[in-house]
Amino acid sequence: MRLLRTVASYDLTVAIAHGKTFLGGASVWVAGDIDQARWLAAAIGKDSVVSWGLTERNHGADLLASEVTAVRTGTGWRLNGEKWLINNATRGDIICVLARTKAAGGPRGFSLFLVDKHSLPADRYRYCPKVRTHGIRGADISGIGFDDVDLPETALVGGAGEGIEIVLKALQLTRTACTALSLGATDHALRIVGDFVQERQLYGRQLVEFPRVRRIFGEVCAASLVIDAVSVVAGRSIQNLTEELSVVSAVSKAFVPTVAQEMIGKLGELLGARGFLTDVYAAGAFAKLDRDHRVVGIFDGSTVVNRNALIDQFANLSRAYHRGQVDEQGLSDTASLEHPSPDLDPKQLALLSKTGCSLIQSLPRAAEEVRDLAAGAGRIPQHVVHMVDELEEIVTDLHREMTAHRRLPQRVPAEAFELAERYEVCFAAASCLHLWLRSESAVANISHVRDSMLWLQACLTWTLTRLGAVSVADGGAGVYDALADAMTRLPDRPGTTAAPSRSEACFS
Ligand SMILES: Cc1cc2nc3c(=O)[nH]c(=O)nc-3n(C[C@H](O)[C@H](O)[C@H](O)COP(=O)(O)OP(=O)(O)OC[C@H]3O[C@@H](n4cnc5c(N)ncnc54)[C@H](O)[C@@H]3O)c2cc1C
Repeated sequence: MRLLRTVASYDLTVAIAHGKTFLGGASVWVAGDIDQARWLAAAIGKDSVVSWGLTERNHGADLLASEVTAVRTGTGWRLNGEKWLINNATRGDIICVLARTKAAGGPRGFSLFLVDKHSLPADRYRYCPKVRTHGIRGADISGIGFDDVDLPETALVGGAGEGIEIVLKALQLTRTACTALSLGATDHALRIVGDFVQERQLYGRQLVEFPRVRRIFGEVCAASLVIDAVSVVAGRSIQNLTEELSVVSAVSKAFVPTVAQEMIGKLGELLGARGFLTDVYAAGAFAKLDRDHRVVGIFDGSTVVNRNALIDQFANLSRAYHRGQVDEQGLSDTASLEHPSPDLDPKQLALLSKTGCSLIQSLPRAAEEVRDLAAGAGRIPQHVVHMVDELEEIVTDLHREMTAHRRLPQRVPAEAFELAERYEVCFAAASCLHLWLRSESAVANISHVRDSMLWLQACLTWTLTRLGAVSVADGGAGVYDALADAMTRLPDRPGTTAAPSRSEACFS
């Protein structure tokens, strides 16, 4: 994820185009046998590009409607049909394809196949032309059609009929990884705009000295700390809270790209005309990253699809919250940044989390810890304690509403999506709180904010404001201004030094 984020912080198209190989391979890492995994790893090691063929022209998120078929032959499988809107369908070497293997379809009616294009007769497959896109124009977004393609038995990934289950588990890894794309894009945007607000002189002053500019920049910096925390917690949950990843991946994939896009919008406003022009400032990089980033909330499960996946788990989540169920060890390992994560055991991945979400379910205990710290050493300001108290109330009320929600498959009420959205923000606040409690020194050292209390206040202020809390002191003004100062160079302010690169200002 760090690698993906770093590449994305220079060019999101490059990150998406190359990151696709991870998405294409994920099903094999989750369910392939060891020979298949070794073969694929060796191919990737020799620069093979792997793509993932799930979507079809007439069916987007609705994978159970897929029409591409694979029928058993005496020696293997025969593949027919077209996959469309596929990243690297044309340029790629290998594609992992979801195909209907039972005419009636259904959850056990689809299977996955690893198709090595170099092994196919040239007249058995064809490409759909590259689709022109709003952003990521350099990426190969195209399609591929198969006409009676014979595949060996060894092409099957996992068991026959397990395709949907494997895809849903692999998506838990890839959706989490997608948050790194958004972080890279916002690192890039903050770098461009951070430089601009310091360089640009208006009415004889630096732009960042205008109170409104400083406030907006500080607020966006606070949002960047929050999405950073969510992405770090989600990434570390892959190995440490694997069984809960169905919740964590859905929440982080819905939340991080949404907030990142909002941040880009606000930063674009600060750039003024230069956010719109394609070659006047920073080679038009801002307009490009803005266009490029829009796709992150669409592919690999759109924001709505991820919220729907969360809503499906409301009943489990509210039961687990009221029981106070927490995987203490997994949670502590996730939030302790110094703790090395173990290898992933893909067998632990589950379609639904039986234990809910430890991060949120342990919030009452985390709040208690904050109150104890405040009472003991007294180094936690009282208004921070009030914010944490209110967060706990909000989370408890939210679970009450989630308990009252009645699930109607295929007819999910619109209100449920609002609850899902609030759950994401609560998850974000809880991520920040747990990271601060378990890794305060790492937060202070790694983030450019340096002052870990400012870090916590900024994160709580941003999340609680979004939750409509009343405990946010002065609407967050003081915190956002202090954060803007910490993250920009203001020559006339004592104690400030050279501007850091904005990517240094983040966890990774
Ligand atoms: C640049 C790009 C690259 C892509 N790369 C790949 C790739 O490599 N491999 C691949 O398989 N696919 C890829 N896709 C396809 C992508 O995964 C689909 O676009 C995605 O699944 C959404 O499908 P759709 O846009 O056709 O929308 P649909 O699924 O048809 O949805 C239409 C609308 O309905 C909403 N909606 C969907 N489900 C629900 C629900 N349950 N409740 C409420 N509203 C809902 C959606 O949010 C959307 O607004 C790519 C797409 C793009 C744009």
